Amino acid sequence: MDIKSKNINTIISPELKTNYKNFPMVPRVIFGAGCFGQLGEILMPKRINSESPFIFLVDDVFEGTGLISRIPLIFNDQLIFISADEEPKTDQVDALVHKIKSDYDDLPSGIIGIGGGTLLDLAKAVAIMLTNKGNSYQYQGWDLVKKPSIYHVGIPTISGTGAEVSRTTVLLGPDKKLGINSDYTTFDQVLMDPDLTKGVPKEQWFYTGMDCFIHCIESLNGTFLNAFSQSYGEKALELCKEVYLEDLQEDVARNKLMMASWHGGMSIAYSQVGVAHAMSYGLSYLLGVRHGIGNCLVFQHLKEFYPEGVELFNEMKEKHNILLPKGICKELTNDDFEIMINVALSLVPLWENALGKEWRTIVTPEKLKSIYQKI
Ligand code: NAD
Ligand code: ZN
Repeated sequence: MDIKSKNINTIISPELKTNYKNFPMVPRVIFGAGCFGQLGEILMPKRINSESPFIFLVDDVFEGTGLISRIPLIFNDQLIFISADEEPKTDQVDALVHKIKSDYDDLPSGIIGIGGGTLLDLAKAVAIMLTNKGNSYQYQGWDLVKKPSIYHVGIPTISGTGAEVSRTTVLLGPDKKLGINSDYTTFDQVLMDPDLTKGVPKEQWFYTGMDCFIHCIESLNGTFLNAFSQSYGEKALELCKEVYLEDLQEDVARNKLMMASWHGGMSIAYSQVGVAHAMSYGLSYLLGVRHGIGNCLVFQHLKEFYPEGVELFNEMKEKHNILLPKGICKELTNDDFEIMINVALSLVPLWENALGKEWRTIVTPEKLKSIYQKI
C-alpha cells in the first residue's frame, strides 16, 4: 500500500468515526442597553408579507407598562399576554398553536417571546408546533422534531436560565417534565437588552440568577466536562461571583448577569446539569415548584456533592438576605416522595454527568428521600 492510499483508508476507516454532537447556535444576537428599540428594523426583512403576522408572546407582568408601546406592531400582528405564574405546559402550547392557526389563513412570519425562561420556552415550542403535526408532548425528548420551526426570536427580561441560547424548551406534559431538545428549537435571533431586566423583584433576581450559578457548578464539576464547556462555565461562574458577591453598579451588574446567563447556557449545551437539577425536576413535577427556587431549595443541601459551590451559594444568599422557604416537603406522604424520587432518578444523563457511570452505587432512593425531607 502506498502512503497516499493508506491515508485515504485511515480517513474512511469506520473504527475512527467519532460521535461528537454537532450543535446549532443562535445565528444572530444583539446586545446592549436600549437595543429593544431596534426590534422593528430587525424583524422587517423577516416579514413574509402583510398577511403573515408576527406573534408576540409577552409576560403579562408587562401589561400596561411602557414596554408594550415600544413593541413594533404593524399590519395584523398580534400581541398575546401570558402569565408566567406557572411554567409552560404542553396543553398550553397546543392551545396557542390552535389559536394562531384559527386566527390566520397563513403561517405567521415569526414568533417573538418576551419574558423569562417561561415565555422564551413557550415561544420556542409554539414556533416548532406551527410546522409539526400532532401534540407537543409527542416531541418531548431528544431529536424527535421532524420539520424546521418558523422564525423565532427570544427577548429575555430576566437573566439566568440560559433558555435564550439552549436547544431545548422545557415543558410540563401529561406524564413528564421534559424538554423538546432539537436543532430546530434554538432561536433564530436573540435580543439582549439589559434594561428590560430593571423591574425584576430581588428574590426572583436571586433565584433565576442562581439557576445560572448552579448550571456552572454542575457543569464544571461533572464527568462530562470538556474544554468547550469549561471555557463558558468558568466565565459564567466568574460573572456570577462578581454580580452576587461584589458591590457593582446596578447597570454593570445587569449587563454582567445577562452575559453570565448566556455563557452558563453555552456551558451546559456541551455537557449536562447535575444533582440539583435532577432533584428540582422532582419538586417541580409533584409540587409545581418553579425552576429557580426549586434549584436553590435542593442545592443548599448538596454539600456532599458540591462542597465549594454550596459554600459560595450560602455566602451569596447571606449577602442578599435571601430567606428560602422551609418545610416544603413536610406534609408529603411516602407515595409523594416516591413520585419525586422516580422523576429525579429517571434523568439518567444528569446523574451520569454528576457522578459517573456507576452513579447508582452512590445515589439510592433512601438518600434522595433524606435530602427531600430536609427541604
Ligand atoms: P420565569 O419566566 O418563570 O419568570 C419568573 C417571574 O419573574 C415571573 O413572575 C415573571 O413574571 C417575572 N419577571 C420576568 N421578567 C420580569 C421583569 N423584567 N420585571 C418583573 N418581573 C419579571 O423565570 P425564569 O426563572 O427565567 O424561567 C423559569 C423557566 O425557565 C422554567 O419553566 C424552566 O423550566 C425554564 N428553563 C428553561 C431552560 C432552557 O434551556 N430552555 C433552562 C432553564 C430553565
Ligand atoms: Zn436550570
